[in-house]
Amino acid sequence: MKNKTIAIHKGTLRDKKTGGVNTPIYTSSANDYINKDETLYPRYFNTPNQDAVAKKIAALEHTEAGLVFSSGMGAISTAILAYAGTGDNIVMLDALYGGTHNFATEWFSHFGIECTFTKTSAADVIKGVTPKTKVIVIESPTNPLLAVVDIEKIARFAKEKKITTIIDNTFASPVNQTPLDLGIDIVVHSGTKYLGGHSDLCCGMVACSNEKMEKILSLARVLGPSLDPRICYLLERSMKTLVLRVNAQTKNAMEVAQFLEGHPDISKVYYPGLERFEGYEIAKQQMTDFGAMLSFEIKDKDSSQFISQLKIISPAVSLGGVESTICPPSLTSHAKMSAGERQRIGVTDSLLRLSIGLEDADDLKQDLDNALKKVSQ
Ligand SMILES: *Cc1c(COP(=O)(O)O)cnc(C)c1O
Repeated sequence: MKNKTIAIHKGTLRDKKTGGVNTPIYTSSANDYINKDETLYPRYFNTPNQDAVAKKIAALEHTEAGLVFSSGMGAISTAILAYAGTGDNIVMLDALYGGTHNFATEWFSHFGIECTFTKTSAADVIKGVTPKTKVIVIESPTNPLLAVVDIEKIARFAKEKKITTIIDNTFASPVNQTPLDLGIDIVVHSGTKYLGGHSDLCCGMVACSNEKMEKILSLARVLGPSLDPRICYLLERSMKTLVLRVNAQTKNAMEVAQFLEGHPDISKVYYPGLERFEGYEIAKQQMTDFGAMLSFEIKDKDSSQFISQLKIISPAVSLGGVESTICPPSLTSHAKMSAGERQRIGVTDSLLRLSIGLEDADDLKQDLDNALKKVSQ
């Protein structure tokens, strides 16, 4: 089956009672233990609505097992802690999502885990590895600078060293990138973004082999970040249109990126689909398409004034919804980082991150152009 078909049919349960085409919402937290091989319970991550979306993500990520969590951070922290403990080292990109970065800096020592932060090139990641390294955590494209990481090179190295690799695939979504095909062990998602897609729910996902999932499931069941069946249903409904949405958003993003690249008021555009962008060649090899996230810097103009002049694109944190949103990472996702650290990784105060939605691309370009003109006055 191809992606569009998988998104709609995989895992979805027809209603036996009515013949209805949608998975019924199974609300029970108390279930029969006598006549069942396995007792169903929401915190065991095994109810039918959880299972429906788990099967979809597993199939979309070209693997055997999926698991749905109550947030992206629930998925990421559980996957990491399942594979590292006291005395272990974890190598991570310093450009990872802010929450993952905070988890490492504020909490790894609590678990006796040492963390090495590296730059995004495969050579830097490999250089960061020590004999104690058990896990490598990467993200590609990264947030918010869209750096493209050579996934295959890192995965190949890690396999030789028996190091578990985890990638946050939120930005690309399984529509634009399937890292397990490139040798990565575990994919994690903030499903709050493209998988949910309508800015109205919070969830996370993990996808990997059955073998790799065993520990993650076992830890998840005691940590307890499970997703309510009612929200699972909303997520399932969204996932059915994932491919159509992300394809259209990606197409819009390319148009907007090219428009910004050619605009006299813009000094830099970060988008993997632009030929002049540093990560373009690797992105072309490892991604199906370039995704719908981009960042940019305005030349000599106040970026908060610019944002206030936008009429269609809304200032909002989060991303991946049907509506286009914009935010300055220095005040949002990376606010907890010190100014010096932000400077070091290239997240300037004037950097703006744009999540491209499903509006008409001409309207988006017009909105950006109008706002830029207004600020220059
Ligand atoms: C939002 C986000 C997360 C965290 O997900 P939550 O659902 O907010 O917990 C992790 N990684 C990336 C890349 C994100 O954009």
